[in-house]
Parts: sequence; structure tokens; C-alpha cells
Amino acid sequence: MSKRYTITAALPYTNGPIHIGHLAGVYVPADIYARYMRLTGNDVAFICGSDEHGVPITIKAKKEGVTPQDIVDKYHAIIKQSFEDFGITFDNYSRTSAKIHHDTAQEFFKTLYDKNEFVEEVTEQLYDAEANQFLADRFVTGTCPKCGNEEAYGDQCENCGTSLNATDLINPKSAITGNVPTLKETKHWFLPLNKHEAFLREWILKGHKKDWKPNVYGQVKSWVDDGLRPRAVTRDLDWGIPVPVEGGEGKVLYVWFDAPIGYISSTKEWAAREGKNWEDYWKDDNTKLVHFIGKDNIVFHCIIFPSMLKAEGSYILPDNVPANEFLNLEGKKLSTSKNWAVWLPEYLIDFPNQQDVLRYALTANAPESKDNDFTWKDFQARNNNELVAIFGNFINRVVVLTNKYYEGVIPEPSEYSTIDEETLAAVKAYPAVISSSIERYRFREASQELMNLARLGNKYLADEEPWKTIKTDEARTKTVMFVALQIASALAVLSEPFLPFTSNKLKSILCHSELDSESQWDDISIKDILIPANHKINKGELLFSKIEDKTIEAQLEKLEASKKANEAANKVTEPQKEEITFEDFTKLDLRVGTILEAEKMPKTKKLLVLKVDTGIDTRTIVSGIAESFKPEDVVGRRVTVLVNLAPRALRGVESQGMILMTEDEGGNLVFVNPDTQNVSNGLQIS
Ligand SMILES: [Zn+2]
Repeated sequence: MSKRYTITAALPYTNGPIHIGHLAGVYVPADIYARYMRLTGNDVAFICGSDEHGVPITIKAKKEGVTPQDIVDKYHAIIKQSFEDFGITFDNYSRTSAKIHHDTAQEFFKTLYDKNEFVEEVTEQLYDAEANQFLADRFVTGTCPKCGNEEAYGDQCENCGTSLNATDLINPKSAITGNVPTLKETKHWFLPLNKHEAFLREWILKGHKKDWKPNVYGQVKSWVDDGLRPRAVTRDLDWGIPVPVEGGEGKVLYVWFDAPIGYISSTKEWAAREGKNWEDYWKDDNTKLVHFIGKDNIVFHCIIFPSMLKAEGSYILPDNVPANEFLNLEGKKLSTSKNWAVWLPEYLIDFPNQQDVLRYALTANAPESKDNDFTWKDFQARNNNELVAIFGNFINRVVVLTNKYYEGVIPEPSEYSTIDEETLAAVKAYPAVISSSIERYRFREASQELMNLARLGNKYLADEEPWKTIKTDEARTKTVMFVALQIASALAVLSEPFLPFTSNKLKSILCHSELDSESQWDDISIKDILIPANHKINKGELLFSKIEDKTIEAQLEKLEASKKANEAANKVTEPQKEEITFEDFTKLDLRVGTILEAEKMPKTKKLLVLKVDTGIDTRTIVSGIAESFKPEDVVGRRVTVLVNLAPRALRGVESQGMILMTEDEGGNLVFVNPDTQNVSNGLQIS
């Protein structure tokens, strides 16, 4: 039965282009889902837009000496183009700087304000006196109180996913000046999440225990169990949507308050254009609302936005939030700032017209239940071993042989063999199998089932060998080719959500548009004949082509170059210390020594307890090198020892001196020692 679906994909943040991580985590699965829902006859609004407010955009604008508007205009255009290039079929792609969005977000705020759903409070917030600015969100970094990550932001720790208030950070530091902030009073409006705890428990923890993904459910449960606190939904900033109530002058809505409302305003924009009623898509209980997001957005889509919708009172709540985990690239976290990414515009330059290859590789290896790794080798293997060798090979043989034997006209079959009947029955089962995977948000599994259908076709041809029977049994050959063409036709329809460009090409090769009735998703399991005898098809074109090793090596070299550039950029040479006199230097008594024994200091990670022959004596030195060296690796090492350093106790062991070390490029410790073995212990270094 046909249903109405409002499908949203996370609004991309407009401070850079998008990369494969975004595509794999959000936009490809959302597009597969939306295309599938349309193909199966549902009423779909697939909604997205650019998220153009918030602190990182203002920081980037400052850095580049342009306005925030310049930044968002630039990246909105680039991002929108990438989505079109990769066949992401949004019904509407808006932007949060649009007037309709400002109006919608302000109206939403005003409604909650009038209903007394906010707590208004003057609190002390972090303030950077030098920059003359309050510090929230990404304007401030510090240590996460939950996991100890030293680079947590004022709104969230990216390491453990915890949502934070700026004042929660330990050792906060201004991202503008690097100063330690002071506290200053300011008034803000808070959404009392604690007030919504009972509702969230009932709705998610009880109501969605079975149908939400375990990674999403688990995160929500841990936050709710930790206790929810009021969250400020306004900010002291000049970039964003002005707070529309008295006392709101100079303040804007918190970007995470306005961004999800962007789904609503984008739907309104679309409905106005298409002559629809937007409220059907947001306020009707028969509509299914599904948010596609990455795991870093779970708290906003499962706790904050639903609490806002609930407080407003007239909206439906999401039916599911199938958040994905993160995609890594060649074993390392994708990073915009470190340029450790595959950017979509660049991909299309290096792999023109191969959008489907990336869509397929990302889907087949999607980070659905845990973080996953994109490697260029896997990408090559997915293309060469699956798309080329199975899907492409099957279609190519069917099309070439039909043209060769029958001048492109589909032959009349005679009686089916058991194999033919079994094969056609197997084809009929695929729509339900793939549907079941998609409806449970298992897109990897769904893409593999599609490939299994191509495998079935390949095997059928290999077993029935029409290229042999053509010499001996004309009637049998016609039947085999007829059956193979039915499989090809089913593939043309069922591949659309996953490989939309390929599906179009294949439909055009098979002249689907000239059929009396073009088959839809469900027809594959109902109709006995998908493409009839005497229908003429076109000459073929290769759907996929092999990707050579040298192409993959070029991509790996590109990444290697990024890695080197990062290392060079991160290399900090400490400035020279204050000048000292020769007398100062002569106070240091440096000697050549040899490590005689070494053992780990119990219950520590870093410390080794060493026995060192200094030429003067054999003494104990505690050294923080255990993370770089095992005890057995250092015994016998020649070392340079500062012998007249005042002894000090480390974990109850007295350390009598210090061993000189430096670090290599990778941050590993290296001994500083004489460059020949021909020096005796105890010799002075001067
Ligand atoms: Zn953390």
C-alpha cells in the first residue's frame, strides 16, 4: 500500500566541499531509500539543503578575510553541484540563509517561547576579552570531561560523541586568540531537555527498541541514562538567525536549533513550487519521517530536535533515524583540515562518468554498524571483480549475442526447461529480498543481493552456453537468449536505486521506454514476461571498464603527498631558548655510558628503570621511554647521561641522572649517543 514519506538527509555544513565519507554515511543510503520508495509507488519528499550558520563558517571567513556570506555562497554552489553529479535525487535542496528558513525558524522559536517551553537564564559564559566575544561551540576547545580528549569543542566532543556546554570543558582555550577565557554574564534561552526525559524514554527506549539500529539506540540510551540537562538554544554571535523576542538583540539562534528546522522550511519551499501542502509531510500521522545522518548527529536528531517538535506540539516525530558510523580512508580518520579525503569534484576529474562505481563501492562497504575503511584497492576490486566481471559481463554477452544472432530483435522462446523455470522463478524472488534489506536500512546487504541477481544471469549463460547451441539447436538458443533478456530487464529496474546511471544506460540499450508498459519494481515478481519477443533492442555499450593498477597507484600517491604535506605543516621547530654563558654550560656534567639492565616500572606505561654504567659508577636512572622501547631492546645501548642532575624519586624509585633523547619525524624517541662505539664509559662531553 502506498504511503507518504518525508526523507531527510543531514544538511551539509557549507565550510568546504563534500567527500566520500559524507556520501557513504548519509547521501547514498538516503538516495537509495528515496529512489526505492518512489519506485514502489510511494509519495516521497526527499529533502535537504545547505547548513549555513554557526561558528566554523565565521572562523573560516575571518581566516580568509572574506564575509561569512562569501563562504556559504561558494560552498553551497559546489556542494549542490556534487549532489547533482552523483545522482542524489533531492526533491528540494534549499539553504538555511533563505528567507523562508529564517521566517520558519523564528516562528518555531516564537511558538516555543509563547508556550513557555524555554527557561530564560542569565549565566556566566566563557568570554574572550581580547576578541571582545563570547565563546561557545567551536570558538572554544578544551578537555572533554567525559573521555579526556584534549581537543573537544564547546558544543561536542568528537572523540566520544558527548554533547557539551562550553563551560563543561576542562582547561578551555579560545579558538580565536588562544587565550584562556574569563567568565562573563549574559542572558540566554535554554531548552530544558530534562523536562522531556520521560517522553524520550517512552518514545525511543521503549517504543523503538526493536526497529532502531543498535548503534543509534545505544547512544541515545547512554545519554538519557546519564541525565539530560537544559541546552542553550541562543548564542551571542552576529552570524545566524536573530532571536525574535524582547531581549534577543545581538543574539542569534544556536545553529543546531535552526538547522533541523531547515528540513521543514525546505519542504515548504518545495511544496509551494509543486502545489502541495507541506503540512501533509510534517503533521500527518500517516507520514513516515526518516532522518539519514552520520553518528555525530545522533544527539541532535534523536534528543534535541524531537524534544523541540514535541514541545511545539503539532509535528510528527521521526519513525527512524538510521545513522551510520564513520568511514575511514586507508586506515585513517577522514579529515577536511588535513586534506585526508577523496573529494567528490576531484573524483569526477580522475574517474569521469564513473559515479556508479563510487556509489557501489561505498554501499557495498558502508559503515552501517561499525566504522569502516575505504581503500582504493577495495574500490578497484569492487569495480573489476563485481561491476565489470559479473554485472557488466552478463549484460554485455546478452546484448552482443542478441545483436549478433537476431539483429537485436528478441527471439520467440519455445518450451522452457526446468533450469529455465527455476531461473525465472528465482528472478521473481529478488524484489522482495532487496526490498526487505532496504526497508531495514541494510543497504550493503541490498547491494549484494542485486549483484547476486547478476551472478544468477552470468551462471545461467555459462551453463546453457548459447554460443555453442547456436551451431546445433536454434530453438534452444532462442529460448536461452529470451530468458537471459528477462534477467537483464529485471536488472535494469532493480539496479536503479544503487546504480542509477547504469540503470538508465541499460534501459536505453534495452529500449525500455518503447515497451507497452515499462516494468516497475513490483512487476518483476508478478509479470511472466518483462521484455517480449519481437521487441528490438539497441547495440550495446560497455557499462563498466576495468580500473588498472596504475590508476589506483596514482590515487595512493596523491594521498601519500597529502600525508607528507601534513607532516611538514605540523613540524614545529621550538624557538631558541634564552642565551646562557659558557660557565652555565660547564655546569652540565655529560658522560658517555652504557645501559646494563632495564625493566618496566610496574603499573606504568611510560617508565623504564635502567641500570647505567656511567664510568663513574653504576646507577639507577628512571626514563620515560617505555612506549618507544622494550627493556630487552635497550640493554647494551650506548647513551649520553647527564650525571649531575639532582636525584629525584619517581614512583618510589630514586632516579640519579638523565639520558639524552630526541624524537624522529614520526614522534618516536631516539637516543642521542656518540657516533662511534670507540669511546669508553665515563668520558666527558664538552
Ligand atoms: Zn569525549
